[in-house]
Amino acid sequence: QDTLAKVDPELWSAIQAENRRQEDHIELIASENYVSHAVMEAQGSQLTNKYAEGYPGKRYYGGCEHVDVVEQLAIDRLKALFGAEAANVQPNSGSQANQAVLMAFAKPGDTIMGMSLAEGGHLTHGMPLNMSGKWFNVVAYGLDAQEAIDYEAMERLAREHKPKIIIAGASAYALRIDFERFARIAKEVGAIFWVDMAHYAGLIAAGYYPNPVPHADVVTSTTHKTLRGPRGGIILMKAEHEKAINSAIFPGLQGGPLEHVIAAKAVAFKEAATPAFRNYQEQVIANARVMARVLGEERGLRIVSGRTESHVFLVDLRAKNITGKEAEAVLGSAHITVNKNAIPKDPEKPFVTSGIRIGSPAMTTRGFTEIEAEQIAHLIADVLDAPHDQTVIGRTRDKVAALCARFPVYGK
Ligand code: PLP
Repeated sequence: QDTLAKVDPELWSAIQAENRRQEDHIELIASENYVSHAVMEAQGSQLTNKYAEGYPGKRYYGGCEHVDVVEQLAIDRLKALFGAEAANVQPNSGSQANQAVLMAFAKPGDTIMGMSLAEGGHLTHGMPLNMSGKWFNVVAYGLDAQEAIDYEAMERLAREHKPKIIIAGASAYALRIDFERFARIAKEVGAIFWVDMAHYAGLIAAGYYPNPVPHADVVTSTTHKTLRGPRGGIILMKAEHEKAINSAIFPGLQGGPLEHVIAAKAVAFKEAATPAFRNYQEQVIANARVMARVLGEERGLRIVSGRTESHVFLVDLRAKNITGKEAEAVLGSAHITVNKNAIPKDPEKPFVTSGIRIGSPAMTTRGFTEIEAEQIAHLIADVLDAPHDQTVIGRTRDKVAALCARFPVYGK
């Protein structure tokens, strides 16, 4: 048997380089994580060879008896994890899960309402260049003066525009979302209430963030962020919506499901139901809080919304006279990976921005606790205080290397 190294050395060396990068950089991108060996083993299995259009027990291909077991395990575990009536584990990504909701419940030209991308929402919730924004009439809500969701304005807009769908969920919002309040207004105006819990799913599974499932008609998520599974999407729904959602995914949007990825999702759902995962999510929140406190209270930066109640927060960099784009680059050269992110009412263009987004899921998976979180926040601030000082950057890189060596991701 030929190994990948032998068959394709060029590709193999790129993968090795990425593996090293993941080991020797501190990963603070809020939407990333490191999956377990078991998840990777399932995803790297022979299930990739199998076509299985349809759903368990109702396939358009022969030989599906074993992948039926795999997919049913994934469905059952997912329903149990979040207390859902029905689930679809086939979406190839979070975006495709979201497209399926739009396809199931709205027609082009209908009005939908979501959180503005500029204030923390996701592009699939109605951004003008996304299909959700091109095909639908979008009414966007945002934040109030305290940088919390402006629920009153959202309710006013809902009453005025009577959207077909109301979306709650965000990619850059640190606080808890009041899903019950969204559900009440959706009911009042006759809208489908859809929650995209992609960022918070792991916290929700562990009980550290409000569960939207009892309140929403439909809940979408990615599986690769706090939930710590393979890259992919899922949909949870009330039983009455199962038929519409399932047919929106197949045959509406997708063909053969990725059963190897579904197998890896099933593993992640099993892991997410353990006490160890609960402890992990508790640490995720503790680490995010420590970093936000150090940067906000000790190092002179402004934390958007004033604090975090989750795994993520935004930092307003303007006090340090550095843009998000510059901060991302200079922190990257110190082997600390973050992403630039617009802050509310950002004066800079979206490709430049005045902020960075910091998340704790990946760094917590490698074993960092509050002690390291505090050190990392100081390392970040040291670099932002002296972004042109190569000595500071070099010294930071050495400290990052020492921390990473003490907490290997996969080399344990
Ligand atoms: N929904 C939210 C809230 C997200 O943050 C993201 C990803 O960043 C997505 C959906 C899209 O997921 P994917 O990148 O898998 O398409």
